[in-house]
Amino acid sequence: MAILPLVILPDQRLRLVSEPVGTVTAEIRKIADDMLETMYDAPGVGLAGIQVGVQKRIVTIDTSKEEGARRPQVFLDPVITWESEETRGYEEGCLSIPDYYAEVTRPDRVRVRFRDLDGREQEIEADGLLATCLQHEIDHLNGVLFIDHISKLKRDRVMKKFAKAAKRDAA
Ligand code: ZN
Repeated sequence: MAILPLVILPDQRLRLVSEPVGTVTAEIRKIADDMLETMYDAPGVGLAGIQVGVQKRIVTIDTSKEEGARRPQVFLDPVITWESEETRGYEEGCLSIPDYYAEVTRPDRVRVRFRDLDGREQEIEADGLLATCLQHEIDHLNGVLFIDHISKLKRDRVMKKFAKAAKRDAA
């Protein structure tokens, strides 16, 4: 396994729409393994392929938070098939937008269809943090960031801050 470099805002790759995984090959399993290791190292609770420069519909999540009780989950080609009318606000962050947090309101519960690493089709219903996380990561597969769900004023401020930081790092 390997820790992969993270793609950070304002890198335009974060706006790409990711490609379907297709057949689950050894390469896909390796990418998923590397993504999990990168996510645990960061540390974060979720990661999408494009955040490590892989433009494929792969999501890794572990919302267990405790190191002794890891529960890694891999979602290939995940699709939201149902969402609740009830919503909930949660303070979100993103490994591609380090040290920035903002409350985002999303459906409280979702049903997600996906394939596992054995290529088997599965469907789960999620609530709480897992529901938030799944929606946040599936957004990434479509080039959408959590800051797209906050006010334009706040978003412009964050974009500016990260554009400035990128310029400073490049200088
Ligand atoms: Zn994110």
